Amino acid sequence: MAVPFADLQLQYQNIKGEIDAAIANVIRDNAFIRGSYVDAFEREFAVAAEIAHCVSCANGTDAIYLALKALKVQPGDEVITTAHSWISTSAMITHSGATVVFCDTDGATFTIDPAAIEAAITPRTVGIIPVHLYGQPADMDAIMAIAKKHKLWVIEDCAQAHLARYKGKMVGSFGAAATYSFYPGKNLGAMGDAGAVVTNDAALAEHMTMLARHGGLVKHQHRIEGVNSRLDGMQAAILSAKLPHLADWTKARQDAAEVYDSGLNQIEDVTVPQVAPDRSHVYHLYTIRHPRRDALAAHLNANGVQTAINYPTALPFLAAYERFGHRTGKFPNAHRDQGQILSLPMFAEISRAQLDEVIELVRKF
Ligand SMILES: *Cc1c(COP(=O)(O)O)cnc(C)c1O
Repeated sequence: MAVPFADLQLQYQNIKGEIDAAIANVIRDNAFIRGSYVDAFEREFAVAAEIAHCVSCANGTDAIYLALKALKVQPGDEVITTAHSWISTSAMITHSGATVVFCDTDGATFTIDPAAIEAAITPRTVGIIPVHLYGQPADMDAIMAIAKKHKLWVIEDCAQAHLARYKGKMVGSFGAAATYSFYPGKNLGAMGDAGAVVTNDAALAEHMTMLARHGGLVKHQHRIEGVNSRLDGMQAAILSAKLPHLADWTKARQDAAEVYDSGLNQIEDVTVPQVAPDRSHVYHLYTIRHPRRDALAAHLNANGVQTAINYPTALPFLAAYERFGHRTGKFPNAHRDQGQILSLPMFAEISRAQLDEVIELVRKF
């Protein structure tokens, strides 16, 4: 049996009527850029994310840029983030004019190690961007305590963590702002690029809105120099059609993870995802560790199971950061993990038979 890594076609078939109607409405109303569908999605997502303001934008990378710019990051400032993430997080720190400072992960959850943050703080540090990687919140109590003590802002990168909670509180509501991606493969995905930045701070929301829309809220009144980072009406309408399903899809991912956990956790050499007791994991990715990762991946792939490595090179060791001359010994957990992590098929519609097939193949290996 072939098991795809994700199955966006199946998701579409399950809600085809709703998606097709949403797209037809946007075309009928000529609501391609901005307009009522974008406004509606912003309102609906703010409610779902349990936050006051949602500013939609073109993608999750822009969302990070908008938040950094609105927080007035300047050349010479240092912003701390995790060594283990997608490059958007660190690249936007650089593009906003600041210097990126990497911290190692905690060795168990793949999220940033608060002790490493504390050690990385200098007089130039202005903020911290934790990433709720794979769908598990970072240790927000510890991070917020450090931020408070050193008067730093926090931007949560929630691109992989829609609806995840830390001690019952929704991710994205801890820091000054939080960023979401609605890339098609994310837990809530558009049919193209889409993103949002959320905040409880009305003034910050207004500033980010201006930045994303050529620097003004009213046409031809450019109060600042902005960029063009708009969510288009078609993507907004698609996201509004999908949003009511997100809670069920999240539960389905968690149920699938439970099946994986119980099937895999007794197998020698396999480390299943470790979830800290006070956090909920929404399993954007189900990522195991294995000392012979490449051979295991080859075995699964040869038997029709698609896998992925998220990510094969930790951020400090990418060619893009050669200028820092980072050595592997400074990020031992991120370095170990880049050689051992393997993401298994995970999507809301994955069947029990597909899960069993993956488990059986790992067991045989
Ligand atoms: C997907 C992702 C982003 C970027 O989102 P895009 O919509 O692809 O620009 C940023 N950070 C993390 C952790 C992501 O997974």
